[in-house]
Amino acid sequence: MPVVIAPHTAPDALLRQDPEMAEVILGETRRQADSLQLIAAENFTSPAVLAALGSPLANKYAEGYPGHRHHGGCELVDAAERIAIARAKALFGAGHANVQSHSGSSAVLAAYAALLRPGDTVLAMGLPYGGHLTHGAPVNFSGRWFDFVGYGVDETTGFIDPSRVRALAREHRPKAIVCGSISYPRHIDYAAFRQIADDVGAYLIADAAHPIGLVAGGAAPSPVPYADVVCATTHKVLRGPRGGMILCGEELAERVDRAVFPFTQGGAQMHTIAAKAVAFGEAAAPAFTAYAHQVVANARALAKALAAEGLRITTDGTDTHLITADPAPLGVDGRTARGRLAAAGVVLDTCALPYAEGRGIRLGTAAVTTQGMSEAEMARIALLFTSALRGGAETARRVRAEVRELVGGFPPYGKLS
Ligand SMILES: *Cc1c(COP(=O)(O)O)cnc(C)c1O
Repeated sequence: MPVVIAPHTAPDALLRQDPEMAEVILGETRRQADSLQLIAAENFTSPAVLAALGSPLANKYAEGYPGHRHHGGCELVDAAERIAIARAKALFGAGHANVQSHSGSSAVLAAYAALLRPGDTVLAMGLPYGGHLTHGAPVNFSGRWFDFVGYGVDETTGFIDPSRVRALAREHRPKAIVCGSISYPRHIDYAAFRQIADDVGAYLIADAAHPIGLVAGGAAPSPVPYADVVCATTHKVLRGPRGGMILCGEELAERVDRAVFPFTQGGAQMHTIAAKAVAFGEAAAPAFTAYAHQVVANARALAKALAAEGLRITTDGTDTHLITADPAPLGVDGRTARGRLAAAGVVLDTCALPYAEGRGIRLGTAAVTTQGMSEAEMARIALLFTSALRGGAETARRVRAEVRELVGGFPPYGKLS
């Protein structure tokens, strides 16, 4: 008997035709349900989103934009993209939305392409403090083609200090300032960044890849009123398909659209765009507002409980879904912690820690909240952490069993058989 998890995760056609790959997909589906998913950038997207992703829209070539395609037969995928654009604009109150970016990084690339020339100076959060690869990493196009200057966080509080950002902006006169991070757990003061950008005549680009889902649910401030261009992903807290999106005012619409296609991308992925539209529809429903607030409540509860277990929490807490912590007080660094937690079925990332030796750990509550967990489970998870971090095969086995028991009560796609 083949294992039936949910129709969208194991189509019969795949099981019959390619059992080798079907086994991998089923195995991964099981792994996701059978361990604790605390990677801050991940989530469980809905069966409806998965259905759109697996639809025959995947077959369609559609270079260009609705009404202006380089291919025939685009009437219905045009309708799909128009729905996605209208929903994104309404959800975020934006004058314009481009929903074609293949990923968050492609969205950032297009934002730079729309506003900058190679060699321009850009001020962004430095990578040791939580900047993304696309914020000037030497191994990335951004670091190769632009002259990045990095701002950091305050050494004592861990918060961004706008007066430091302003001083760097005045010193370096950047063409653009980027606000957004892969690990900053606090709200970003977009109004302060806007003032700094205006002060030096720079564009403001908000890379809201992480918090955009919280913005959709009203649980985090929106960058849309302040930034010239907002880049985002659709697959993190927002819970849509893997992909990117760009929001801006109407005055930059044409530059942004041309920067995506034809400048940095070819044909749009219409199945993904349809899936983005489904996710925007879900995010506009009242249930998503409740979800977004619960994500934050869970992260706050988990941060507090982990602090009580002895971990050092960056900025002493969180405003978002994201927690970064130094496990050093428990006698392990981030890498050892990730390994021991993985052995116990707890999946998370390591991250750079500002002003600390070694790496820390980064975790988030978007996925477990989608599964239906709340504050009580966060307290339990914190206890599992400290047991697992002590190490040893025996402890790992015991915690693994407890993790299985916990996640067994919150199946992401219904019960596994
Ligand atoms: C996740 C993330 C990205 C990139 O997203 P991909 O889809 O992985 O390319 C860009 N910027 C920030 C701040 C991110 O957190």
